[in-house]
Amino acid sequence: MTERFHCVVIGSGPGGYSAAIRCAQRGASTAIIEKGLIGGTCLNCGCIPSKTLLASAHTLLAAKNAAAMGINLTGATPDWPKIQARKDNVVTTFRKGLTGLIQANKVKIFEGRGIVTAPGQIKIESASSETLIQADRIILATGSEPIEIPAFPFDGQTIISSKEALLLKQIPASMVIVGGGVIGCEMACAYAAMGTKVTIVEALTRLIPMEDAWVGQLLARELKKLGIDSLTDQKVTAVEKTGQSAKVVLQSGQTIEAEKILVSVGRRATIDKETVDALGLQMNGKVVAVDKKLRTNVINTYAIGDVVGTTYLAHGAFAEAEVAAINATGGPAEFGDYDLIPRAVYTFPEIASVGKSEETCKAEGLDVSVGRSFFKANGRSAAHNETIGEIRVVKEKSNNKIAGITMVGAMVTELISAARTLIGTKEKITDISFPHPTVSEVLKEAVEDAFGVSLHNPPKAS
Ligand code: FAD
Repeated sequence: MTERFHCVVIGSGPGGYSAAIRCAQRGASTAIIEKGLIGGTCLNCGCIPSKTLLASAHTLLAAKNAAAMGINLTGATPDWPKIQARKDNVVTTFRKGLTGLIQANKVKIFEGRGIVTAPGQIKIESASSETLIQADRIILATGSEPIEIPAFPFDGQTIISSKEALLLKQIPASMVIVGGGVIGCEMACAYAAMGTKVTIVEALTRLIPMEDAWVGQLLARELKKLGIDSLTDQKVTAVEKTGQSAKVVLQSGQTIEAEKILVSVGRRATIDKETVDALGLQMNGKVVAVDKKLRTNVINTYAIGDVVGTTYLAHGAFAEAEVAAINATGGPAEFGDYDLIPRAVYTFPEIASVGKSEETCKAEGLDVSVGRSFFKANGRSAAHNETIGEIRVVKEKSNNKIAGITMVGAMVTELISAARTLIGTKEKITDISFPHPTVSEVLKEAVEDAFGVSLHNPPKAS
């Protein structure tokens, strides 16, 4: 007899596994189908392995810069096999833990490719078998994959995606990174710290183009200190393979030789054509179209995470999973404001933002003022010799509310959650006590500056 569940989730990345656990916690019989590894992109070839490599890179740089802190340490070098083994160990430990957690919540795991053949009907294809199951509700959480450039497709050896970049057997002598977005810049930091000569080529006029211009400019300046060249407003037109390396040809005619060419120009939703055709699933370009309840156009069928192309962030997928799971188990829930999903980039220095940027506010015709505060004026940052960067707070003049906060500096990806709570407030920040000395005082100072009550910023020329 065909097994039947109340909820079936396809894909076990952050969107899928969290939706499945939440459905089960809300009393629904639930199954999850995964064709690859439990944990999806985030755990296996995204957030976690990249942050683990970046943590090793950060430690290496700290060791190399130890003399500035009065510590004599010479000869710090990377042990790449150990760095890779540590990363693999973190990933496998978390994957085991997550698998156990899913099972402990009584969610049944099916291995194989899940294809929806009709509303509520799913076929699971694996190497050895084909299984049919039924569902009252289906949540599509099939994620995304790296976009390939047709003129120079991935070969897995020389022209690689972020997936292979996390698995390299040796530290390459040189790397050209096509695309100066989040993944490209993070990989640039990890490999430059290890000693690779990195060149980033970005078609737009700045790195991290989704943030305000000052962010990309500051980052390019800091990356230069790591030996990374950032070529902005430049397109790669061809990659000519030459034995073990390749020659990258830019539109300007300039050529760059490199051992590895990492193409990181964005990600594309993964959705099986069979499922789209069988359901008549409405697409919004290349992503699955959903409403605020994360419902697709097909009855009792939801979609969340990268496959709906909203945030391309793991915590964006978590937030959508929550809404879809509630709706799939009785509801009601609606997704709020995507601007309130914080954005984090784990470069050296880090970047984080939440709410609307200054440029977005101006493009929307909002009259704003901007408060600023600098890490170089912060005692804790000075103590740690991490004085690069600043925080900017954008305040709407019409209602005196904080519209957005952008930060560049050490550990700002940890500070952004505190900043999130300030969006939309006109709270008297002077009433909130921030412990001293902490890096978080820079946030307080920037907010105070936005409200014209800064204590430690020098007086502004009137
Ligand atoms: P995914 O994690 O992509 O999971 C989808 C799963 O569905 C996959 O396991 C896939 O095998 C499975 N699947 C697909 N089709 C089928 C099918 N038919 N049947 C069964 N299974 C199927 N985000 C952050 O928030 N912070 C970060 O620091 C961060 N760093 C990143 C670094 C890198 C290098 C990359 C590539 C991404 C990073 N991301 C980061 C993005 C983050 O990984 C994704 O936004 C997140 O994984 C999306 O989750 P998801 O559940 O939508 O999909």
